[in-house]
Amino acid sequence: MEGLKQVFKFGGASVKDAAGIRNMTELLKGFQETQLIIVVSAMAKTTNSLELVLKYWYEASEECRKVWKEIQNFHLNIVDELFQEKEAREEVYQSLNPIWAAMNEQLSSKPTHFARDYDKMVSFGELLSTKIISHYLNKEGLVVVWKDCRALIATDSTHRNARIEWEATERKMKEALDNTSWFITQGFIGANAEGETTTLGREGSDYTAAAICYALEYDSVTIWKDVPGIKNGDPKVFKDTVLLHQLSYEEAIELAYYGASVIHPKTIQPLQRKSIPLFVKSFIEPQNPGTHIGKDLELTPHIDCFIRKEKQWWLRVSTRDLAFIAEDQLSFIYKIFYDLGIRVNLSSHSAVSSSFCFNGEPQLQVELFKRLEKFFELELIKEAQLYTIRHSRLGSKEKIEGYRKVLHEQMSKDTFQLVVV
Ligand code: ASP
Ligand code: MG
Repeated sequence: MEGLKQVFKFGGASVKDAAGIRNMTELLKGFQETQLIIVVSAMAKTTNSLELVLKYWYEASEECRKVWKEIQNFHLNIVDELFQEKEAREEVYQSLNPIWAAMNEQLSSKPTHFARDYDKMVSFGELLSTKIISHYLNKEGLVVVWKDCRALIATDSTHRNARIEWEATERKMKEALDNTSWFITQGFIGANAEGETTTLGREGSDYTAAAICYALEYDSVTIWKDVPGIKNGDPKVFKDTVLLHQLSYEEAIELAYYGASVIHPKTIQPLQRKSIPLFVKSFIEPQNPGTHIGKDLELTPHIDCFIRKEKQWWLRVSTRDLAFIAEDQLSFIYKIFYDLGIRVNLSSHSAVSSSFCFNGEPQLQVELFKRLEKFFELELIKEAQLYTIRHSRLGSKEKIEGYRKVLHEQMSKDTFQLVVV
C-alpha cells in the first residue's frame, strides 16, 4: 500500500453507541488510500463502570454482579443494533465469549493485589470495544485485523501507570504490524515481561497511539474527538473560547501539564522525539482541519490560554518558632509528598512558611497531618481551584470569575497562576 501511513485514535465518546460506531466507519471509508492503524478506547464510560465493578468486588458486595451485567447488556445491545443478521450477530457474540469468561473468572476468584487486579479488570473495556468494532468494520467492507495490544506495548510492572519499554515495544510492533492491511488495537493497555496486563494511566489511549506511531515511524497521529480541536480554554468552563489552529509540542506539553485535559500529557514526548505531527480533529466534522501540533509551530492565533484545575488543596506549612524554612525542611516535606504520591502543582515560599497547591484526595489528609504536624504549624484549605493563564496579557485575569477569595497569585515568564476558593 502506498501513500500516507497514519495512526487514528478514537476515544470513548466517539464510540459511545451504535450511531458513533457507524459514524466512525463512514469516516474511515474516506481514508481507503491510507495505511491505518486504529486505536480505540473503551466505549462511553465503560472504564468508570469497570472501576466500580472492581470496587464492589473488593467490598464483596452484591452490587458487583449487577454492574457487571449492566456492562454486558450495554455492549450486547450495541452488537444487536449493529448486526441485524442473525449469523453475523452470533459470530460477534462468539468472539466476545472469551472476554466474558475471563471477567467471570476474575470475579469468581479472590482479589489479590489491587493495582494488578485493577489493570486486569479495566482492560476488558478496550478488549470489548475493539472486538465489536473490528467485526463491524469488516462487515462494512473495511479489511482490518484485530490485534491484542498486550502483544505490542511492552511495559514495566508499575500497574495503573506503567512505563513503556521502548526497545521491546518497537521490536514487537515491527514483527506484528506490517503494512499489508489496516489494524485495530486497544488504547491504554499493555503487558509487562511476565505477560500480566498493565495500563498506562487513565485516558492513556492517546499515548498508545503516539507510541505506535513512534515505533513504526508512521507519518502522523490523529485524535478524533467530539470537539473541533484544542481550544484556548475548556468551553464548559470559560466563555468565548476559540480554536487553536496550531501550536508547538512545547506549548501542548505546558497546557497538558497545567491540567488542560484535551490530550494525555505523555502523548507529546514520543512524537516530539521524531517530529511526528499530531492532529486533533472532530469526528462530527471530519473535513475541518482541527488543531495541528508540531515542531516549532507558532501558537495560532496567538492568544491567552486558560486552564482550571479543580479539587485543589492549599497547604500552608510554617515553622513553630519563626525559624526560617530552609532546604533541609523543604526536602523533608517533599519527601513526604513523594511518598504519598502527591503532585505539587504550584508552591510559594516566604521566610517562615511555604505553601503548596496539589490535587486533593480525601484519604491523604490523615497521613499527611500525622507526618507533618509534629514539626510544623499547618493550615489546609480544601476545595480550592488553580487557574493557569498561558500568554497572559492585559485583561486576561478579569476573564476568571466566580471565586470568593484569592489565596495566591504568581506570574512567571509566560504563565500567570491564581489559586482561589
Ligand atoms: N478507557 C480508558 C479511560 O477511560 C483509556 C482512555 O480512554 O484513553 O481512561
Ligand atoms: Mg475512555
